Amino acid sequence: MAMSWAAGVGWASRRVSAARVDFPSVGLALCPRRPACIPLRGPWPVAPVSRMATVKNELMKNLTSEKAVRHNKISIIGAGSVGMACAVSIVLKGLGDELALVDTAEGKLKGEMMDLQQGSHFMKMPSIVASKDYSVTADSTLVIITAGARQEKGETRLNLVQRNVAIFELMISSIVKHSPHCKMIVVSNPVDILTYVAWKLSGIPKSRVIGSGCNLDTARFRFLIGQKLGIHSESCHGWVLGEHGDSSVPVWSGVNVAGVPLRDLNPAIGADGDPERWKDVHGDVIASAYEIIKAKGYTSWAIGLSVADLTESILKNLRRVHPVSTIIKGLYGINEEVSLSLPCVLGENGISDLIKVRLTPEEEARLRRSAETLRAIQKDLRFQRR
Ligand code: NAD
Repeated sequence: MAMSWAAGVGWASRRVSAARVDFPSVGLALCPRRPACIPLRGPWPVAPVSRMATVKNELMKNLTSEKAVRHNKISIIGAGSVGMACAVSIVLKGLGDELALVDTAEGKLKGEMMDLQQGSHFMKMPSIVASKDYSVTADSTLVIITAGARQEKGETRLNLVQRNVAIFELMISSIVKHSPHCKMIVVSNPVDILTYVAWKLSGIPKSRVIGSGCNLDTARFRFLIGQKLGIHSESCHGWVLGEHGDSSVPVWSGVNVAGVPLRDLNPAIGADGDPERWKDVHGDVIASAYEIIKAKGYTSWAIGLSVADLTESILKNLRRVHPVSTIIKGLYGINEEVSLSLPCVLGENGISDLIKVRLTPEEEARLRRSAETLRAIQKDLRFQRR
């Protein structure tokens, strides 16, 4: 029974995008409660089926029986704060033709789906469906993973990682079963380790398993530089690479505005002895998440917007360069399989190329330390492909 409402609603919402379909009682029979079956528009729930069909026939002359064919289906696993911020950012950009949501918390999932569906008037996403059953994600072009356990009081990071790995074992096999050709964006934390785990569990090429990584850290970095200079962040160029988190690496050697390297103007930029204390910008990038979580309980909008930006590059095959997490064994003296952020070209096949950033010896050493930090946690993880 748990699945029933979802099947009913998914069915109801799909009907809107089809030019002509019968209005079978099977859909209604699947729905335990009427509100869950309210379609996106129209008086369907209150009008008798036969009269409604007549009105429809009087109103329209059907020319062809259309079966919905999805070209750019996006699924989001985890309808929590981050998952729903991704969903809203994606639908507002009109990036796909179907959005599927999956979560284990059915009540919340139903509420989120209905709330989003009823905003359809203001967006261009013809179909929004949800279920705890992964069949709802079938044939996705892109699957975004935001599900995960939250850290419990006194719980070690490794313990949390191991709990999330257990969740990933089932989740990844279900995703791949229904969408064997999909690209994945992993957002759940610790994102670099879980990107590695998702890659191992999925058995799909590493180019198609993308960690959101330092995409958000870099956006924060550029925003904060922009604040210091009074320039829009889009015009402040700079990269944060490595681990998403405390050991991330700000590439001060490359920070520039209009091609003017800031290090040429201040050779101590980002270093301890800098009287202007630019180093604090990176400190603030790291502290941002903690500060926002302390203030509002979670972070959501910036990560949602940044994931929608990655989604756009993939679905529109834009081949833009993003700092996302990918397996980088063999580069910068890193000889183990770890997932870390480097500038990557993102398009319809996922990550097609890496940009070989010229790092200073100090930056390269920091990147290696970032890799070691991840490797130290990764080596104790136990997981099994299902
Ligand atoms: P949340 O608790 O609000 O949402 C998590 C959701 O996952 C919940 O709705 C829960 O029911 C669901 N869930 C749990 N187990 C599941 C399973 N097995 N299958 C399907 N759904 C399941 O948490 P949130 O604030 O949305 O954060 C989600 C994740 O994103 C966290 O790991 C967080 O640390 C991470 N995050 C990453 C970044 C980044 O830059 N990579 C930024 C912010 C948050």
